[in-house]
Amino acid sequence: MKPSIAKHWEQNVIRVTENLRKIRDLLAKAAVEAGRDPDTVQLLAVSKKQPVSSVVEAASAGQRDFGENQLQEGLEKIAAVADDELVWHFIGHLQTNKTRPVAEHFHWVHSVDRLKTAARLSRQRPDELGDLNICLQVNVDLEESKSGVCVDAVAELAGQVAELPRLKLRGLMCLPAVRHGFAAQREPFARLSRLADQLRANGIPTDTLSMGMSDDYRAAIFEGATIVRVGTAIFGPRIES
Ligand SMILES: *Cc1c(COP(=O)(O)O)cnc(C)c1O
Repeated sequence: MKPSIAKHWEQNVIRVTENLRKIRDLLAKAAVEAGRDPDTVQLLAVSKKQPVSSVVEAASAGQRDFGENQLQEGLEKIAAVADDELVWHFIGHLQTNKTRPVAEHFHWVHSVDRLKTAARLSRQRPDELGDLNICLQVNVDLEESKSGVCVDAVAELAGQVAELPRLKLRGLMCLPAVRHGFAAQREPFARLSRLADQLRANGIPTDTLSMGMSDDYRAAIFEGATIVRVGTAIFGPRIES
């Protein structure tokens, strides 16, 4: 490892505890401003491209939920950290042929966008681990290139996933294109929130809206986010390979 990278990591670890405290404060403040109970907003620490030491530091500062978006990196980190108290969320694109290790090692998947993936996770989830928590990733921007189920197909997919054994449909997730300004940031989150309302009206109640990251968590909280996925604001810049 280059000395500059080692130094960077070392400084990161020291910063994590302090950053976590700040972020938890900011999330609570945003919730109160939005007229919500701060306890209804959960912090998911996105540890992708961060060292194991940063996860350990965050865990010792009381952080329980961690998110990874690359399967191999996530599996290695789960094994290296080896802490049964932690809750691991898979938040990246999931290829249908790589579902088994996700079903066996993660507690949540936020990025289900087709029935085939959900059906495989359902079959491959070991009984003794209990239900795998599922969010459907919704393509709120209608961008051709983005993953996520399109808005028109959410209700049908939700109905199908809700029926699958060993899965628990928890809610919806989105990863909108970058927008600047509070009002513009709120717009796609409002759309996701309305979709969840429509599911409820159709008899498919959910309890999770996974939306908002380091730069737009406040807008997401104003629109009802129950899980915000924060990476760089906790851990600092990612180590790009
Ligand atoms: C990387 C990532 C995040 C965290 O992004 P930050 O800007 O670092 O907070 C959240 N959600 C998903 C799906 C990601 O891939």
